[in-house]
Amino acid sequence: MNRGAIAEINLSAIAHNLNVVRKTANNRPVIAVVKADAYGHGAVGVSRKLLQEGVPYLAVAYVGEAKKLRDEGITAPIIVLFDGDDTKAFFDLALIPVVYSKETAASLSSEALKRKTVKKIHVKIDTGMGRLGLHGDTIIEDIMAISEMPGIEIEGLLSHFSEADLSDRSYARLQLERFTTIQIAISRKVKKKFFSHMANSAAVLTFKEAYLDAVRPGIMLYGYSPLSRNPECKIPAPKLLPAMTIKSKLLCIRNVPPGTPISYGRTFIAKRPSRIGVVPIGYADGYSRLFSNNGEMLVRGKRVPVAGRVCMDLTMLDLTDAKNAKKNDEVVILGRQAGETITAEELALKANTISYEILTSLGSRARRTYVETD
Ligand SMILES: *Cc1c(COP(=O)(O)O)cnc(C)c1O
Repeated sequence: MNRGAIAEINLSAIAHNLNVVRKTANNRPVIAVVKADAYGHGAVGVSRKLLQEGVPYLAVAYVGEAKKLRDEGITAPIIVLFDGDDTKAFFDLALIPVVYSKETAASLSSEALKRKTVKKIHVKIDTGMGRLGLHGDTIIEDIMAISEMPGIEIEGLLSHFSEADLSDRSYARLQLERFTTIQIAISRKVKKKFFSHMANSAAVLTFKEAYLDAVRPGIMLYGYSPLSRNPECKIPAPKLLPAMTIKSKLLCIRNVPPGTPISYGRTFIAKRPSRIGVVPIGYADGYSRLFSNNGEMLVRGKRVPVAGRVCMDLTMLDLTDAKNAKKNDEVVILGRQAGETITAEELALKANTISYEILTSLGSRARRTYVETD
């Protein structure tokens, strides 16, 4: 959907962040998480760049996302993290399913037999996230049962951390221990080592014992640290470069006398002779209504406040102190303009959420352009 805003994605920043991940994770292979349209950055453009930079695997949430990449000619291995039911698509599109139930494994097995082929799968274990993965007292038996199904080869084992973003690593450690115990037990039984991966961005930054055979970061690739939402965490993050800028422009400006109400509900009343600018971005573009009378945008390198409620497609700015602002001037909603920057973390704090939601909300609705800065 092409709405009023533009998302400018800096692919050089993504390449930089990939190298930060590699350096931090002692050069482990990187499974690049490009789910949710690469966190709003555009999965096709971002994946092409990451593959060019030598990433060996991509990971998406759903088969539909993987199909989009295949349709664009991306032939790299793709791990599908959450979607188990579209059995045929895993074969037709040569995808790697993450399996977390015996039933899914059984359908893959019968499809593999039908096609006289062998499907490589990764098996997910729930070690304490409470979301997806084999769980309970029968994990080892379940994995053994899956490994004995014809037409299936368990290539990888994975799990996911619930809180690797703390200085206190005791829960992350417990999850890793559960994972390792199961992995060792299975490896002993089937006399084979599995390609094991567990580390999201938080674990890349805090927990080197969890690097295993590969790391599986998302948010770091896009230039944000998952630790910064958490002031308690004193572990320093390396220098990442935010890859997304969200821009729009001033649709019009008008001068209003004191006492003029602005936007729905008259929550902003001009206290002085004011200049009010209208920006074509609203909550339908992912600019949360929580930024009403609360957010700031950049105009001519200066911060200017949101005036009144954010509407569906429009937001008003109080430009009274940005005297030289003109119609059609660039407005930066997220990112840098001259010396000023608005980060996804700043917006997240104001909207009571995390940088992930800011990026996916704003990035997925804007018209995207890609730039390289070096
Ligand atoms: C989203 C996700 C990741 C990446 O998480 P970040 O916090 O963005 O690094 C890794 N693994 C799984 C299973 C995920 O769902």
